[in-house]
Amino acid sequence: MTEHARYPHVFSPLDLGFTTLKNRILMGSMHTGLEDIPDGFERQAAYFAERARGGVGMIITGGVAPNGEAGGGGKLSTPEEAAGHRIVTQAVHAADRDVKIVMQILHTGPLAGTEQAVAPSAVRSRIGRYAPNELDEAGIEKQIADFVNCAAMAKLAGYDGVEIIGSAGYLISTFLVEKTNLRTDEWGGSFENRMRFPVEIMRRVRAEVGPEFILIFRIAAMDMLQGGMAWDEVVALAQAIEAAGVSIISTHFCWHEAQVPTIATMVPRAAFAQVTGRLRKHVSVPMITSNRINMPAVAEAVLARGDADLVSMARPMLADAELVNKARDGREDEINTCIACNQACLDHTFTGRLTSCLVNPRACRETELNYLPTATPKRIAVVGAGPAGLAYATTAAQRGHKVTLFDASAEIGGQFNLARKIPGKEEFDETIRYFNRMIAVHGIDLRLDTRVDAANIATQGFDEVVVATGIEPRRPEIAGIDHPKVVSYIDVITGRVAVGQKVAIMGAGGIGFDVAELVTHKGTSAALDIDVFAKEWGIDFTGHPRGGVTGVEPVVAASGREVTLLQRKSSSPGKSLGKTTGWTHRLTLQRRGVRMMGGVEYLRIDDAGLHLLVGGEPLSMEVDTVIVCAGQLPARGLYDTLVAAGVNATLVGGAYEANELDAKRAINQATALAAAA
Ligand code: FAD
Ligand code: NAP
Ligand code: SF4
Repeated sequence: MTEHARYPHVFSPLDLGFTTLKNRILMGSMHTGLEDIPDGFERQAAYFAERARGGVGMIITGGVAPNGEAGGGGKLSTPEEAAGHRIVTQAVHAADRDVKIVMQILHTGPLAGTEQAVAPSAVRSRIGRYAPNELDEAGIEKQIADFVNCAAMAKLAGYDGVEIIGSAGYLISTFLVEKTNLRTDEWGGSFENRMRFPVEIMRRVRAEVGPEFILIFRIAAMDMLQGGMAWDEVVALAQAIEAAGVSIISTHFCWHEAQVPTIATMVPRAAFAQVTGRLRKHVSVPMITSNRINMPAVAEAVLARGDADLVSMARPMLADAELVNKARDGREDEINTCIACNQACLDHTFTGRLTSCLVNPRACRETELNYLPTATPKRIAVVGAGPAGLAYATTAAQRGHKVTLFDASAEIGGQFNLARKIPGKEEFDETIRYFNRMIAVHGIDLRLDTRVDAANIATQGFDEVVVATGIEPRRPEIAGIDHPKVVSYIDVITGRVAVGQKVAIMGAGGIGFDVAELVTHKGTSAALDIDVFAKEWGIDFTGHPRGGVTGVEPVVAASGREVTLLQRKSSSPGKSLGKTTGWTHRLTLQRRGVRMMGGVEYLRIDDAGLHLLVGGEPLSMEVDTVIVCAGQLPARGLYDTLVAAGVNATLVGGAYEANELDAKRAINQATALAAAA
């Protein structure tokens, strides 16, 4: 089937009048941290050029600050600074002259994180470090002039356009919303006054850059704030921005401070595209939609419904630079799909680390992590087809090694087969699908239902044995741990044991939280049903009250079980969860009535239940089931025996180090080792 038959909307060009986008998929803006490092332009050049070769129609860079007070990374305000950006634009255009590269201008306003932060009013954000300085009239004029100058410098640097972000709680959006704009002059008060700032910026930027330069405005079509923008204000802003001369309007959903997840893996695919679709009816410029659109079929459906003219995929382009080409060539089963975990991208960005990708550790490391053909092909046995073994086997085979991959179970995936059974983690299926396909593409000899022991592997003549046997769940030494009411998380997730009404979960790490989610869950997974998701998070897609949120505490369907999540540490449970997603898990469980207790000491389990000390005081919990989620230990028996027998063996993943292991570390370590094998 040709590209046009399978994805006719995705692969239809978009004529902007003065230029044409070759298809309808663009790479959305992401701050990667490459903006802030010494060889950052060279590394961005390699990173973006790879995506350009991968077939995307347009690339939007990470945010660039227009001035010193704007925060964010990589200021652009002088011709000297523009010279560095030329490295990026030239690399992208050399990779494919038809791919457009657009620079995002980002002024973080009150979120700048410095005492120099500015805003329309001195209102501190819930997530801001400082109260911003209120801009006076001259200050406002300076900010507008700096946006205009930055756009001019972007043009000088060879960009095809600029995107100006007017959402997320950054400077422009704080003018738009009443609670952050308390001004009484011509920049505050009525909505007409509040939107003057973005409209003036767009009008003056257009005048500066001329008609043949792509100009995109990113609007908060749903800011998810109580007292946020009303729908008629969103429409009025979009129309005024159109009249100011933008080429494209891009829809964004939520401010960073809002308490509604909009991109986490629990968000249904394309959940917000319908909002773009409604706004699209009120303007005539093309519109971009985004959020949780991670596969070409989802993009095609959004475009076919008429919800948008263009689809932005940001994280999916980290996960797979070649996504668009694979769709074009009918190889979508080879796409390494973004599972929306945020673990290596946003969690890194918000903790000052370079962005990468859990499923593709090469993202943002294109100049240093390469899978070059091997000059000395070896026969390699990989034991264990969990994330670590899969990453090792597929990378080594791709490089030309002859790989045999063993697993004791009937399917590949290791613990991902448990993870994917948790409501909200359905996307983990995609990683297993991807690796299954890669096993076939790279001709790996897969032996399932095969438990390897040292004796049988040692006689098969492999040059190297890679031991990726994963972990054993920790079974704490507590009196009564063998009581029938004590079960392991594996038995619960696989459904091998029945769980009672009153439940204690021992261990509040990632798995403890996932198990609490599973045993309190009722009905359809919100990740698979937009209506359920909207109800669980208090979103009103149709009525669109201010901000799009109802403001009423959502009523969440729950199993009715009484669940207590316990840990020995005195810190608050869930602190170790992901920076950008942990709060969603904590809030979900709170809404389902899960009790969380830190600082406990386990004494014993008996017919009466679980006996603890809490703050030195005894507490007996009458429970039917105690689920042990107390961390993991490396499964190293095979490795130790192999080494003792003189076999050349390498440890990867949980078998190497189980403490604080996650799939990001397992895949990263295994991939790096296989790249060097
Ligand atoms: P494993 O996944 O444990 O795989 C080991 C494999 O080796 C298994 O398939 C096993 O059958 C096989 N094996 C063992 N011994 C032998 C033998 N002798 N012969 C043949 N085969 C053998 N991580 C994240 O990063 N993000 C998450 O959101 C996340 N959620 C999770 C949710 C749950 C419920 C669970 C249980 C885990 C989750 N994890 C998550 C953790 C992640 O799955 C693990 O870190 C990762 O799977 C470790 O990979 P691994 O390959 O080292 O080991
Ligand atoms: P974990 O996050 O390290 O949590 C282990 C829990 O067990 C902690 O709450 C710990 O708290 C407790 N514990 C440790 N030793 C104990 C003992 N001897 N007796 C009783 N309790 C003990 O590990 P995990 O939950 O097993 O998860 C494994 C890995 O999978 C994690 O590293 C995690 O990153 C990953 N994962 C990630 C996600 C995600 O959403 N990102 C989800 C699931 C899993 P105390 O010591 O304070 O009691
Ligand atoms: Fe997607 Fe997770 Fe990779 Fe981020 S780290 S791009 S969310 S798969």
